[in-house]
Amino acid sequence: MRQQLCYNGISKKMFKNVISPIQAWLLSQGRCVGCGKELKIAKKEKKDNLTEKVTCSCGRIFIYDPKTKKYRRALLEEV
Ligand SMILES: [Zn+2]
Repeated sequence: MRQQLCYNGISKKMFKNVISPIQAWLLSQGRCVGCGKELKIAKKEKKDNLTEKVTCSCGRIFIYDPKTKKYRRALLEEV
């Protein structure tokens, strides 16, 4: 019983660090996970040779990889 509770606590914590299926789907469509706007119309700045920083009008920041044409959420240290 005690072990079960402990396990639930851990799995909840892990879930927090994983983006939700809806957010993953929005990103795969090139859309903001917060407001659903298309990120191709968002403000882009070159971050380095490989990636672009994309700022949505709602304030969320993403990283775009032109090579794979994929977006992901920016990490805290990238903002
Ligand atoms: Zn947005």
